[in-house]
Amino acid sequence: MDNDICEELKGLMKGTLKANEPMSKHTSFGIGGPVDAWAAPETLEDFFALLDVCEKKNIPYRVVGHGTNLLVRDGGIDGVVISLRDACRNLAAEGERIIAGAGVSLGRAVRFAAEKGLQGLEFCVGIPGCVGGALVANAGAWGVSMGDILAGARIYTPGAGKTRKVPRNEISFDYRKSDIASFGVVLEAEFNVTRAEPETIRARMKEHLARRAETQPVGFKSAGCVFKNPTGCHAGALIDALGFKGYMSGDAMVSDVHANFIINAGSATAADVMRIISEIKGRVRGSAGIELEEEIEILGRD
Ligand SMILES: Cc1cc2nc3c(=O)[nH]c(=O)nc-3n(C[C@H](O)[C@H](O)[C@H](O)COP(=O)(O)OP(=O)(O)OC[C@H]3O[C@@H](n4cnc5c(N)ncnc54)[C@H](O)[C@@H]3O)c2cc1C
Repeated sequence: MDNDICEELKGLMKGTLKANEPMSKHTSFGIGGPVDAWAAPETLEDFFALLDVCEKKNIPYRVVGHGTNLLVRDGGIDGVVISLRDACRNLAAEGERIIAGAGVSLGRAVRFAAEKGLQGLEFCVGIPGCVGGALVANAGAWGVSMGDILAGARIYTPGAGKTRKVPRNEISFDYRKSDIASFGVVLEAEFNVTRAEPETIRARMKEHLARRAETQPVGFKSAGCVFKNPTGCHAGALIDALGFKGYMSGDAMVSDVHANFIINAGSATAADVMRIISEIKGRVRGSAGIELEEEIEILGRD
């Protein structure tokens, strides 16, 4: 994408647009080559204007959340990466429903619900993504996932230029995946919650955070669990049994706290992480006959 197009995109919307922006600044791994343009439109109108031009000019684009489930390759991404952190930051409680914009962080949503005495979102505490990304990944913890609490979502279908409410029963959710993105861009979601004392909700949140701190490498750059758990066992246990904890490639390292986490211990590249992923998959296949599947999403070019 040349500079003139970036300038044109900048001119048509309010908000932030950065040309040739390293994705390492926008992923929890702290890894990723440059994207031609990174944009955070200020309002929904700005977002729609941006998408409109991308569609008309055949510029590839992708809406992302907090980049906490992404490994962006070192060659970067073509086109525009769009964050809805500013355009979709609405958050409200209506009866026994929480209505949250796609760009709202899960942490903010769960704290808000607790303040209002509404329970149901506590499992999200400590998951570092936002509402849109969490719905796409069907993020979950402690046996509960986003699909379990969703009532419906407001979706924008770019080609058609339309926004519509999609009810929960039209969307498929499975273990760490959903087909919600096939409807278009998630703008907002409604979650079912029930009433409870704020102190009870906060106590549950505290418990979840404490368990997380005991079992996960909190405070390190990572994208959470790298592999999905195969049926009937834990990917972390399989990897640990093969002695991978502490294993390094460049500055990427298998966490010595939780073997299903790869951390960026300095200036790791995506190639370093990919080498570890490939080594783990090969060894697990060879020893247990199990084909591990990535939970993280791998984007961009080498
Ligand atoms: C320390 C750590 C702990 C974690 N713990 C957990 C855990 O316990 N459970 C768990 O499930 N996950 C966990 N994760 C992974 C990750 O946080 C979740 O998958 C999270 O929900 C991803 O949200 P995100 O906003 O970062 O999405 P991103 O990683 O930015 O995006 C994920 C996908 O969603 C798409 N997308 C984002 N927003 C939209 C939108 N508005 N419309 C359409 N598509 C969109 C993106 O294009 C991408 O395909 C953890 C990650 C870290 C770093």
